[in-house]
Parts: sequence; structure tokens; C-alpha cells
Amino acid sequence: MNHPAIAAALLLATTAVAPAVAQRPAPPVPARVDPAVARLRDAALEDTLAYDIVEGLTTEIGQRLAATEAEARARTWAVARLKALGFRNVRIETFRMPVWLRGEERAEVISPFPQKLQLVALGNSGATPAEGLTAPVTVFRTYGDLANAPAGSLKGRIAYVGNAMEPTQDGSSYGSNGAARFVGPALAASKGALAVVIRSIGTDAHRNPHTGGTNWPPGVQPIPAAALSVSDALLLERMADRGKPITLHLTLTPRFAGEGESGNVIAEVPGTDPRAGIVLIGGHLDSWDLGTGAIDDGAGVAITTAAAKRLLDGPRPRRTIRVVWFGAEEPGGYGGIDYARVHGRERHATAQESDFGADRVWRFEVNLPDSAKAVADRLQSALAPLGISRGAGIGGDGTDVGPTIALGVGSVDLNQSGLRYFDTHHTPDDTLERIDPAQLRQNVAAWTAMLAVVANASEDIGNVTPRK
Ligand code: ZN
Ligand code: ZN
Repeated sequence: MNHPAIAAALLLATTAVAPAVAQRPAPPVPARVDPAVARLRDAALEDTLAYDIVEGLTTEIGQRLAATEAEARARTWAVARLKALGFRNVRIETFRMPVWLRGEERAEVISPFPQKLQLVALGNSGATPAEGLTAPVTVFRTYGDLANAPAGSLKGRIAYVGNAMEPTQDGSSYGSNGAARFVGPALAASKGALAVVIRSIGTDAHRNPHTGGTNWPPGVQPIPAAALSVSDALLLERMADRGKPITLHLTLTPRFAGEGESGNVIAEVPGTDPRAGIVLIGGHLDSWDLGTGAIDDGAGVAITTAAAKRLLDGPRPRRTIRVVWFGAEEPGGYGGIDYARVHGRERHATAQESDFGADRVWRFEVNLPDSAKAVADRLQSALAPLGISRGAGIGGDGTDVGPTIALGVGSVDLNQSGLRYFDTHHTPDDTLERIDPAQLRQNVAAWTAMLAVVANASEDIGNVTPRK
């Protein structure tokens, strides 16, 4: 029996005769889609309300910098609009926060090749003297290079921090490259820098700089911090490649203007079963001040409101759907923190937000308790006709709903394509023209289907372990 030919034949026989087919599990039977859900979803593909909201908000209000008079006007606009649409319990919940206002922003290369550069201050930037400051530049191609710079080595200098951000469908390159903006300025300050300029956290190569918030840990004095357009950043890097010292004159005069008022605008579709928990949805009403806040995040409040309106106009859902137009997301997520402070003890079934532009939803991911596993299966069937697949990751993300999710609330994340988002994110080009109405409608259909499934689910949707 030890004959090698027989052994080989037996081996062949076992591998060949026990075909792989026998081991392949039968494909799962897709969950049935409730015809009422399908009808709501398909009707939403003809939606005009979302576009109407974002068109109105950008035209009649425009930029909505947090805790300014413009953001307050936007809240008044939102209340009138939500009441006119028939939402219930429409109200504003205000909170206080520090106010930051943009000033002048100019930069020019003094040497070796004198010319002006295009840049904008980052949110929470400190200021230069009114006449500006002139200093030599140390060029770091990446945030990692800045992190490796010795302590004290940037004394009296302007730090430049580059990045190599590429577009990604899931937006992951924002997290990996964004450190240069989120924490780069504070790190440069800790090494003695007078000021910092970064390459915009963006994926275009145009001359529009991308603003965005930067964080100063307690005790760190803000220094002037700005973003060069990607084109200007590459220009500066080419100058550095020539090996000559670079001197920059920089004028940034933003200011902190004490405490001001912001607020969340809340509206509801009342459910029939208060014990089943709230389905929390929304986006943020505030925007940066360069564009008109169309993709960030007029689209998000418009998509979620238009979807909720479709449930409002039908039979009452089991769960209350609460739509929140959060205030002051951009400078530090103040609205989401305040919402969790005020409402964190109320029972929520799930919490999810739309804050990634207006392009199509391509994937969904959930964090649901075991008792609600079948809900995710029904979502998969209901969303598939929109070209949305189920991701293997754990959903539950976002600056506005994050503080509520952290309390153990489940989530259904509808992930939008990020391939175009960072071309115009936080730039003067965040305008209505960036919105593709067909993709916006697909978003409304996805959110409508999600709400129809989740708000009406007969299962118990209790607490979950928050995603780490
Ligand atoms: Zn946003
Ligand atoms: Zn933003």
C-alpha cells in the first residue's frame, strides 16, 4: 500500500473525487423586501425636495460659519422650512462656544523667487502682527518628517508641511493625510515654529486652498496656521528642490471673538412606539465661510430631511425619526456634543449622519445588536437595487452622531463615494454646482429605504458596543 504511485493515485482520487462543489455552502437566500419599502425607495429616486433644500439654503443664506449671525439666520430659515414641510416638534436648542473669525490672509515668497501665493487661514488659527511676519521656511514633505524634527529646531521659522493625498472611495486618505492639518500646527508650535503653512488637505491641483479646523491642545498658544492651495504647495516644494533658502512674508489676521451662540435645529416624525427608541439622522447646518456649504453639508441636511419627509407623508412609523441639523460641526463638533449632553439619556435605536458630500452611496455598514441581525439582512436586500453593497466593517461614525454613538447606540452607515469630495471640500468651490442631482436622488432613495426598514423594524434594537 506504500507504493508511491498508488498513494499518488489515491491522493489524486481524494482531491478530484471530493469536488469543491460539495464544500461550497448554498448561497444565502436574500431577505424579502417589503413591497411598501420598495415603493418608497423607488419613488424617492424622483425626489426634488433635497435639491430644493440645498438650493434654497445656499442661495438664501450662503456660508454659515459657526456661531455667527449667518448661522443664526440659517437656523431661522431651517425652522421655517421644516415647519412648512409638516415636521413635528420643530425647535432650536442653543449652546455657547468660542467664536473664531477670518481676517486678512496673504503670503508671498520674498526669496529666492519672489511671487504671491494663494492660501487661507485654518479654523482656530492664531494671527500674525497686522503688518505680517517675515521668516525662513523649513520644508517638511510629510507630517512624519515634521514629527521627526528635533525639539526647538523650528525656532523663528515658518514650518511647511506637505502631504500626498489621493482620492479614495471610502475617504480613508483624509484620515491618513489630514494629520498635517488636524495636529500639524500644534506640533510645529511645540518645536518653536512662528507659523505653519500646510499643503491643502485636498485631491485637486487647482489654486483654491482648502480650509478646515486645526486643534490646539490645552495650554498650547495658537500660532498662525494656513493652507496653501495644492498648486502653490507644489510650487513651494519645487523652489525647495532647487536647494536655496526660502523666505516667506505671511499676513494672517483672524481673531477669537469670545463666546457666541450656536444651536441644533431639531424636527421629528413621531413614531407610534416611544419605547422602541429614536432613529437619529441628520447633517450639519454650519459650514466654512469660503464657499456656500453645498456639499459640506447642505447636502447632508437636505438628503436626510427629504428622506424623513417621505416617511412623514406615509403611515406613522413605529419609531420616532428625529432629524437634526447640527450646529458648529466644523470648528470642533460642538453641536453633536451638545446633543448627546441634552438627549443622551433618551433611548435611541440607531444614530447616523450624512456628511460626505452628495455623490452616490456605494456601501453600507452597520453596528446593530444580535437581536436586530435580521434588520441588516433586510437592509441589504432593500439597498441592493440602488447599487449599494454591504461592507464587512462595523458602522457607526461621524462627528455629529459620534458622541451619541459613544453611549452605546447602534448605527447604519450609508457610505458615499469620496472620489470627488476632496477636490472642492472646504474651498470657495463648495457650491451648488458641485451637486449632481441624480446622485443626490440616489442618496435620498437610500436613506428612505434605510428609514423604512429601521424605523419600522419589529425587532428590539437595544444598545451595542461602540466601534473602537
Ligand atoms: Zn461636514
Ligand atoms: Zn467640513
